[in-house]
Amino acid sequence: MRAYRHFGSALIHGGIYGDGATGAVNTPIYQTSTFMQEGLGKHKGYEYSRTGNPTRAALESLIAELEGGAAGFAFASGMAAVTAVLALFNAGERVIVTSNVYGGTYRVLDKIFRRFGLTYTLADTSDLAALEDAITSDVRAVMVESPANPLLTVTDIAAVSRLCKRRGLCLIVDNTFMTPYFQRPIELGADIALHSATKYLGGHSDIIAGLVAARDAELAERLHFIQNATGGILQPFDSFLLIRSIKTLGVRMERHAENAVAAVDFLRAHRAVDKVYYPGLPQAPGYEINKRQAGCGGAMIAFELAADRALRVFFESLRLVALAESLGGVESLVCHPASMTHASMPEEIREKVGISDRLVRLSVGIEDIRDILDDIGQALDRSGVSAS
Ligand SMILES: *Cc1c(COP(=O)(O)O)cnc(C)c1O
Repeated sequence: MRAYRHFGSALIHGGIYGDGATGAVNTPIYQTSTFMQEGLGKHKGYEYSRTGNPTRAALESLIAELEGGAAGFAFASGMAAVTAVLALFNAGERVIVTSNVYGGTYRVLDKIFRRFGLTYTLADTSDLAALEDAITSDVRAVMVESPANPLLTVTDIAAVSRLCKRRGLCLIVDNTFMTPYFQRPIELGADIALHSATKYLGGHSDIIAGLVAARDAELAERLHFIQNATGGILQPFDSFLLIRSIKTLGVRMERHAENAVAAVDFLRAHRAVDKVYYPGLPQAPGYEINKRQAGCGGAMIAFELAADRALRVFFESLRLVALAESLGGVESLVCHPASMTHASMPEEIREKVGISDRLVRLSVGIEDIRDILDDIGQALDRSGVSAS
């Protein structure tokens, strides 16, 4: 029996809490590749750390609990997690993915899986009719990001899950942007929730990791087979760091979201900014759906600068907010999707899905919001001067 009832406590006490062998309140870092066996086929549940490691197991059971899945899996990166999930499918089959999908997911589908005969269709999953139209007889799965990178397009996960159930398709949700603190796809009907734990779950821009939670035992068994067979596992030390990070996920996400709301207000009022994308804005498309499934708008914002020429000055004028790939860390980060995160997406597809060259993506950190806004404000002011 669990000694707690609420999600905020599961972040701290969930999964396998402490160490049964010593009473340590934290799961030790079992930095070992192999485990002694008492006799042939007689062991304590662990044989070899690719197959299973106690530190990784504590993290895996934690993400399973947080996402409400039957089992969890920890990988060396978000892309290793995506790759393992896609390896569930066969040559001749097809996966539908959100058209604003993470650039790396697009790349692995287009450049790797396609060579092995697993193909994909990009579809606007926020439009149920368009999604249904894209379902051909070879489709086996739908992979959704909500909100999707970088325009924060919202997909109705529960509605897509009903459609997937009707058509016998597996629903995979990349939950990186919301984390289980705000959004739990498996509770909304998804079969698999996955994460780049490099982002909010890790939260400190110091580890690369991926996590997967599977709805049922059958799917979990297939994923474990793939994880063990392909070997892209997370190391014990990184597993420990991630468990440590997740303990503060709740307080971090609250502060991230609170800062994001203030940043959105600020950006919308600024002359050098044309358009602000944030699913927490009541006028944003998908606002109601996002509110229902995630409770808030999260902490990722995209905005368009008013002038092309402003871009370089804006990025070069920032002093606190770092220009960097990635997101979800305690520090605020900006990036230029067209040349950074979405550079692997061909220009014509970028244009089609609305990623303009003037688009800036902001991952709002948990610094004092006054310092974040001071910095963005001075950079925008400079960029505005040069644009006019
Ligand atoms: C970063 C990211 C990934 C890839 O994760 P890595 O940890 O960088 O391999 C996948 N999906 C989304 C939405 C991401 O932001």
